[in-house]
Amino acid sequence: MTEATGEAPPIPIRVVLVGLGKIACDQHLSALAKNPSLELVASVDPAAQGRDGLPHFTSLDALFQSDLAFDAAAVCTPPQVRSAIALRLLEAGKHVLLEKPPAATVEEISHLEERAATLGVTLFTAWHSRYAAGVRPAREWLGGKQIRSVAIVWREDVHIWHPRQPWIWRPGGFGVFDPGINALSIATEILPHPLRVTHSALQYPANCEAPVAAQVQLEDSGGLEVSVDLDFRQKGSQTWTITVDTDEGTLELLQGGSVLSTPDGIQASEDEEYSTLYEHFARLMREGRSHVDMAPLRLANDALLLGSIERVEELNV
Ligand code: NAP
Repeated sequence: MTEATGEAPPIPIRVVLVGLGKIACDQHLSALAKNPSLELVASVDPAAQGRDGLPHFTSLDALFQSDLAFDAAAVCTPPQVRSAIALRLLEAGKHVLLEKPPAATVEEISHLEERAATLGVTLFTAWHSRYAAGVRPAREWLGGKQIRSVAIVWREDVHIWHPRQPWIWRPGGFGVFDPGINALSIATEILPHPLRVTHSALQYPANCEAPVAAQVQLEDSGGLEVSVDLDFRQKGSQTWTITVDTDEGTLELLQGGSVLSTPDGIQASEDEEYSTLYEHFARLMREGRSHVDMAPLRLANDALLLGSIERVEELNV
């Protein structure tokens, strides 16, 4: 019973983590542990060991063959295998959270969206950067202002942030768009109109099948230009910044969206991205709704499709 209402608290929704790699261990485990509406009941990963007595399976087959009961899954695998896993879970009547990028192609997401609607289960494309502390206030600050230009600079050292992740360099791995798509997810959240790709230049290491750097131009229907500079070869200080020039001054989202600077001052808060993301997932499941947004994936894939290709020095991957 809760003291306030005298009612029994709702039974937690039982969640399985599929893919127990870097992001699952860095963020999903703790965010799930903090949310009383959700209960982590198992993990699935062919390589990783399970955690602290949590039931662990090396494949989805093994999970489904067990008698473990669960309601939902968060799919934190590399993107190349995500949609096949998600489809199997949806067809089994499970709610699904997709880490970003939600799949390798827009077609894969469209199919998952249609199946989730038909089967009456929740599908959530979880663009985690949209839950960074500065993003919502940035969107509110920009409301009604005239935006003159936008510049995105996302430069990081791949060897620090993605060690031992060869999938990033394979087809469907997105290369530098793996972090870059986070910037696109913020831009499509804070800017008022849909964007399209007008120009793209890509640099591919001689030994890789995905780009290590990209310079992309985007435009909205009103002619607003957005420049995007992505680079995985950054040494020293790392940059994840979006600068928006408006008729009432300049807004900057720094450190991946967690710090907001405007002419009114600087706002920075504790990183609660994944806690907020799971609160939203729990709400969607309780309310029987899906939340599917393909806009960042569409932009990344169009930039990869339209981009001119320059071969650059081999990368140690
Ligand atoms: P990771 O460390 O390589 O982890 C992925 C895990 O999934 C690996 O343990 C992998 O096992 C496992 N896996 C592969 N195929 C599987 C399958 N069929 N079933 C179950 N598990 C499977 O990669 P990550 O950094 O966590 O990234 C995963 C996703 O999260 C990516 O889409 C990435 O964009 C996103 N993300 C990453 C970060 C970050 O900071 N790293 C932040 C936000 C979002 P094997 O190693 O044996 O293949």
